[in-house]
Amino acid sequence: MRREFRFRDSMQLGNWTFKIFSDGFFRLDGGASFGIVPKPMWEKQIPADGRNRIRVALRCLLAEGHGRRVLIDTGIGDRWDAKQREIYGMDRRAGQLLTELGDAGISRESITDVVLTHLHFDHAGGACLDMASGMAPAFPRARWWLQRAHWEWARNPSERDQGSFRPDDFEALADTDRLELVEGNVEILPGLRVSPVGGHTPGMQIPEFHTEDGTLVFLADLIPSVAHIHLPWVAGFDLNPLLTLSEKRQLLSRAVEDDYLLVFQHDPDHEACRVTFQDGRFQARETLTLNQSE
Ligand SMILES: [Zn+2]
Repeated sequence: MRREFRFRDSMQLGNWTFKIFSDGFFRLDGGASFGIVPKPMWEKQIPADGRNRIRVALRCLLAEGHGRRVLIDTGIGDRWDAKQREIYGMDRRAGQLLTELGDAGISRESITDVVLTHLHFDHAGGACLDMASGMAPAFPRARWWLQRAHWEWARNPSERDQGSFRPDDFEALADTDRLELVEGNVEILPGLRVSPVGGHTPGMQIPEFHTEDGTLVFLADLIPSVAHIHLPWVAGFDLNPLLTLSEKRQLLSRAVEDDYLLVFQHDPDHEACRVTFQDGRFQARETLTLNQSE
């Protein structure tokens, strides 16, 4: 049985405090989101609309601790015309993420670090703003953490995935001296490790906060929703689905063993869960509602 929890304001683990912020919702093709899984199976988990699209959350995580204020991913941003907003079923207010942060007393200037899991437009769309002087980083004082392998891929993607990248989302970061390109599994701040995975796109990185009170992992597109916990449920977007499968197995095995709290970026209904291995498969043991804005 799944139990429901709610953390009204924030959640503390060790010296880190976490809050969820939202850049709204959009919609993606349900078939593409579930790969080879037949629709009668996936639509029981996440229903499709009349155009076969599923609702997808655009969650970001704010982590404060050790004198740092860290934002994980930046949402989909505002640089979309009416036709694109309609195609992607965008359900968000203009500037939603920045407004939510501002309402919580968090200015753009106060963010010290941004960890970009990868540069797909629904993760990096809010990284840069269209200023009078051209594109500029939305968080002007932040250091920007990214895997070097992904940075290189995003600037020279394949024909298969080039539609997922918009160079205006990230090219302005190259003009700063605050782009931190890391290689491999690195502890970038005390307790915060970024773990590279390559099945979804080369050099995506999974932020993991390891504290004396437990571990919190932000799943990005490795496991986009509760439904994707089951190992064979891999999105058709993934460039290397067998690699995704083994990377999921590796992370979920650790998560069962050490009772990780797993945070979902895209699940429309659930913000986080813990997992168990039961009846021959990984399953959500508890789902949690953090302080998701209503
Ligand atoms: Zn992605």
